[in-house]
Amino acid sequence: MSSAPSPGLCGDCVHARRLPTGGGSEVFQCLKSRTDARLRKWPVLPVLSCPGYEPGEGEEAA
Ligand code: SF4
Repeated sequence: MSSAPSPGLCGDCVHARRLPTGGGSEVFQCLKSRTDARLRKWPVLPVLSCPGYEPGEGEEAA
């Protein structure tokens, strides 16, 4: 069982980069925000609708 909040669309987006926080949870950085001013670098989760959303494998940070 996990108590981590759902990231919403970012959890399933090619532009998302997962960053573990060290406390067992994770934050998401939006890589598309570099080229799309509508998007936030650190999206407020859960993201329920997003103009940049593209489903696929995101990037996993080490
Ligand atoms: S484009 Fe939208 S859904 Fe995708 S990572 Fe950025 S904020 Fe999240």
